[in-house]
Amino acid sequence: MSTEFQKSRSIDTHFLSSIYKALLKGEEVEFRPKIRQGVGIVYDLFGIEVSIDKLKNFYDRGLIEVAGEISFPSCPICGDTCLHLFLACPECGSRNIEKKDLLVHYDCGYMDSVEAFQTSREGVYRCPKCGGELKRVGIDYGRPGFGFICKDCRTVFQIPLVEVECERNHKIRVQQLEVKKFPVYRLSEESKKISRIFEIVEIIAVKLKERGIDAVTFAHVRGLSGVSYTIPIYVKGNPSLIIEIAPEEIMDERYPLLMTIEAVDVPDSIMIIILPSSFRPELESIFNPEKIKIIKVENIYRSVDEIVDEIVEVIGRRIYAET
Ligand SMILES: [Zn+2]
Ligand SMILES: [Zn+2]
Ligand SMILES: [Zn+2]
Repeated sequence: MSTEFQKSRSIDTHFLSSIYKALLKGEEVEFRPKIRQGVGIVYDLFGIEVSIDKLKNFYDRGLIEVAGEISFPSCPICGDTCLHLFLACPECGSRNIEKKDLLVHYDCGYMDSVEAFQTSREGVYRCPKCGGELKRVGIDYGRPGFGFICKDCRTVFQIPLVEVECERNHKIRVQQLEVKKFPVYRLSEESKKISRIFEIVEIIAVKLKERGIDAVTFAHVRGLSGVSYTIPIYVKGNPSLIIEIAPEEIMDERYPLLMTIEAVDVPDSIMIIILPSSFRPELESIFNPEKIKIIKVENIYRSVDEIVDEIVEVIGRRIYAET
């Protein structure tokens, strides 16, 4: 297994186990894009930051759906969304500026920070330009509030120049920014279904591994049609084995048809479907017995050992049939 594949598998497992836990607690799950400086748009996947490509992969597999969109400002030259904001002096363009509480001497018109006027006497100011004493606010001097002072050219101003730079150092004015939209995702019905069988799938896979069967859980397999499937238990081989588990609560009337299509679409595979004994026999006729083996148990959650035995038997028969 390549490390890339392993990494992607561990993210998948993390995703499904986290959905499982979140849904147990009845939590609403939403994935919102945000900007990570130096990286770009990322999504928080239950505590792990992943790229939008991972979310697109989940979207392609039907695990999440689009719930909305958020716009982010972007560079009009390269499309980068990692933008940095700078404030500059409107006179000389220097970014070496300070924010200060300002004071203006009405007589001579000099404006500077309050500190520049301070004397040792409380409430008495002296103008550093003309030397005049300032006593009465509103008559001798004014307090226009906060503003900026350029450390390079000493210009005092209230509205700085706003400059934006992307991480490729393109300099952009605010009015020139583009906006890029990114989707907000939420869980699909498909992922809610899959998460419901998360625990039972993991338990069965562990037991299969104990029996020497290399079972991969929630494998991402692409069919001949290009459709992606998330297969609960997958055993690679010739043919590969697709194990689907369908407790009553995830079953609907489309289920038999969807499984039939999946069984045909995944090349060189046979499918085992584990069904509750309540599954209606008349619906079973759709399954091609050459391609799909049915295992029925009274209660899927309480019959793990029985299920594992039956899977091992099917695999055994398959090997026997080949030799
Ligand atoms: Zn750029
Ligand atoms: Zn300046
Ligand atoms: Zn003055």
